[in-house]
Amino acid sequence: MTIATHEFIAGLPKAELHLHIEGTLSLSMKRKLAERNKLQLSELSFTPLKVPPGSTGQKLDILQYKMFLDLYMQGLKVLHTVEDFYDLAYAYYEECKRNNIIYAEISFDPQPHTDRGIPFAAVIEGLQAARVEAAKTLGVESRLIMCINRDMTLESALQTLSAAKPYRDHITGLGLDSVEDGHPPIKFKQLYDLARAQDYELTAHCDVDMVNAAEHVRQCIEVLGVRRIDHGINVLDDPTLIDTAIERGILFTACPTWRDGDPQPRRVDRIKKMRDLGLKVSLNTDDPGYFASGYMNAMLPRVVECGALTQDDLVAYMRNAFDGAWLPEDERQEFIQRLTDYAKEATSQSM
Ligand SMILES: [Zn+2]
Repeated sequence: MTIATHEFIAGLPKAELHLHIEGTLSLSMKRKLAERNKLQLSELSFTPLKVPPGSTGQKLDILQYKMFLDLYMQGLKVLHTVEDFYDLAYAYYEECKRNNIIYAEISFDPQPHTDRGIPFAAVIEGLQAARVEAAKTLGVESRLIMCINRDMTLESALQTLSAAKPYRDHITGLGLDSVEDGHPPIKFKQLYDLARAQDYELTAHCDVDMVNAAEHVRQCIEVLGVRRIDHGINVLDDPTLIDTAIERGILFTACPTWRDGDPQPRRVDRIKKMRDLGLKVSLNTDDPGYFASGYMNAMLPRVVECGALTQDDLVAYMRNAFDGAWLPEDERQEFIQRLTDYAKEATSQSM
């Protein structure tokens, strides 16, 4: 039972399935794009995300949650052209290379862009070009997930699905994110039925400790028919739901992130409990441009420390990610082989 070291973590072949590309906007990238697009810097927020002293980080603070989403929506206003979206995505792929993330499924939010007059084409063409280039130049494979903002109308969501039609080949999955309070999954049943008919893979956020959190997880599984849930750790609140999720092989893409001011990584105990109960759960960085936890190789050592995770534990979390990834079976097996070989090699060295 070897505790995972920094060196083991750095070399571990990783998959990341819960990552918002707009959430990778660093302050320096924001400045670069704001200058390129000749935007008034004073109108944009460059405040880093900070929680007030005394936060335990273990319970949801609704005000903090809304402040984060405001900051996120402000930040993405620096993105205008194909080149901007390309640069943003390519910078993440470079992080993938540095963090040994060999496979990523990347979420993007089209509506906050199209709503301010940016063509859908600029968003998707920039992301797709970066995706192709990263596979060729950096050896990082990826897929794209189009996330619908749940606090916007169903009509807007349906329009976005239509706008994506010419780019269907570039987009693998459909997701649901943003302000959950008052916007239950059931609101988007029609959207998910349509997306399923168009062969999109399906996921949805169930943010942590929302009102009716477990009910939202249930709706995602039973009404929207997703195979994956982003966060969703309140599945723990309902024993029958735990059984349903295990039975259907739902993967929960959890994020043990923390903000500046949080005393430790959040949610680690509950993530461990999920795995102990037989639920499938993976580890992800969510919005590394905003969270102090940063990218994988910065986040995982503190998560390991907080949860006393062994090498085998980390391999199991990564295995869950590869198992739940939206990959053709032969590609999945290749990635899993790389992970298994690495784990074997590490075990033989530590003996
Ligand atoms: Zn997320």
